Amino acid sequence: MEDFPIRAVEMVCLGSSVALSGLFYYIYRKKCKTVNKLNEAPVLPVDEKLVDLLNATPGKCLQYVVIEGTVQSIGEPLRSQFQEGSVGVIQKLVLREHKLVWNSLARTWTDSERVLHQRVNAVHFNLLGVNKAFVRVLCPLEATGPNMEIIHEKFHQASYGFTDLIGQYLSGEKPKGQLETEEMLKVGASLTAVGELILDTDRLPKIRPPTDGSEYFLSTDDFETLRLEQEGQAEVWRVLACICALAGVAVLMWAGRRYYRQLKQRWEQENMRREFELMGAEEREEEENGMEVSENPCVICLSNPRGCVLLDCGHVCCCFRCYQALPQPICPICRQNIRRVVPLYQA
Ligand SMILES: [Zn+2]
Ligand SMILES: [Zn+2]
Repeated sequence: MEDFPIRAVEMVCLGSSVALSGLFYYIYRKKCKTVNKLNEAPVLPVDEKLVDLLNATPGKCLQYVVIEGTVQSIGEPLRSQFQEGSVGVIQKLVLREHKLVWNSLARTWTDSERVLHQRVNAVHFNLLGVNKAFVRVLCPLEATGPNMEIIHEKFHQASYGFTDLIGQYLSGEKPKGQLETEEMLKVGASLTAVGELILDTDRLPKIRPPTDGSEYFLSTDDFETLRLEQEGQAEVWRVLACICALAGVAVLMWAGRRYYRQLKQRWEQENMRREFELMGAEEREEEENGMEVSENPCVICLSNPRGCVLLDCGHVCCCFRCYQALPQPICPICRQNIRRVVPLYQA
């Protein structure tokens, strides 16, 4: 593992940044496609000419169009449970529990939210244009949006006694209360629909989720706002993908820099070893030539001549072989750390 240029932690960081940037880039491309399709989609007025237009179209189907109209329920509309007199075509009732949870890592209480109960009701509805012309909306719950109006919101505060407090202290959870909301797409609201427009067998124009997999929108915003919002989202995903890619590059550069340093260090050591070996060979030669053994031998082996300077202390006390055999890089004379060792040449 030591020779491997990338450590496990860096590998994990690199892997996740590559995976995340890939994922974000994929979402960005998808959003771009949606934005392009929205830019190309024709905005059609809902009027009496719409049926004729669809009749003249091959397949009686327009793949991706924008229509705007007001919501009109076909049968009996849904009645609000909490607001008297409010009627709509999609109703969403949600009960959320809010509590504080003790976070032992951050050592604070953090907010936590959980959906306890959720119910969505919908009835069939039309988008009404001019001169009583209308388009029926199919599968409204499959659409992105509809950003419905919150018509009721009530927070029920939790109440507790002394024993509850002790229980909360022990369990690390403090209930704050429950939030009850009702959202509704009201009858009469103006709605922008983007999807596939067809003329059905009953000669009614209908808008439905596009069969080519493009995004289906129902929004209470106008078309321009919807388009700009999608563009903004695409930009956010692009920035996220870039950040992740840059993080990956940074990890690679970090690992590369460390690897380069290791190589350099190893290379220096190798050089030094060669120099000492050369010196050792010369000494042996001298010995063989009958010259007496140094009168000032290495303090460790007491046979070889002292062959190196230990830095920073500067002691000349041992031969290179004994220096290499030291269990720790500490000078045998003064116990100071050895930062560097320099071969000693006697002329
Ligand atoms: Zn020695
Ligand atoms: Zn020393």
